[in-house]
Amino acid sequence: MIAHDFLCPSNHITERMVKSGQQFIRCPECGKRAGLVYLSRAQRNAQRFEPVYYLENAAGEKIIPPAGDKEIAAMMPDYVQKEARTLSEVRELTKHLDRQSQERFYKYHSKRIENKRRNTETNLEFALRAREKMSDPLAQKMTDYAIEKMRDQRREILPTFKSSGHFEVFE
Ligand SMILES: [Zn+2]
Repeated sequence: MIAHDFLCPSNHITERMVKSGQQFIRCPECGKRAGLVYLSRAQRNAQRFEPVYYLENAAGEKIIPPAGDKEIAAMMPDYVQKEARTLSEVRELTKHLDRQSQERFYKYHSKRIENKRRNTETNLEFALRAREKMSDPLAQKMTDYAIEKMRDQRREILPTFKSSGHFEVFE
């Protein structure tokens, strides 16, 4: 059995479950013969379109639970259950999720870069202080070399976030 639309000469549209191959039904409105309405594949897909279930919190963060599992909602009281019902709503949801994961990526990355920069800064300060107390020329030379390396490293880290507007933490 499959659901089809049937159209009669008086333009009544009736949805009816019929055996595949059945071309006509009697129109329940006027009793005239109603013929099967053929839909394009796109139209059929649009008809079959299922709403996308998702969760949203007050901050506007959206989550699609795995396999649309509604039980997850019970474990997340901060989230409201929502549905994207039209294609444009689904498109909006998809766009939002893309943006969200991109922001998370940048947040994660900027934290890592910030840590690296801090470590380099700390090591550099430590080396500079140690360098002041050194009297042995060979130790001085090696420390100067290490300091130069750390300064290079710091220069390498800087452009990474300066070239991208996303790493505002460093400004
Ligand atoms: Zn009719």
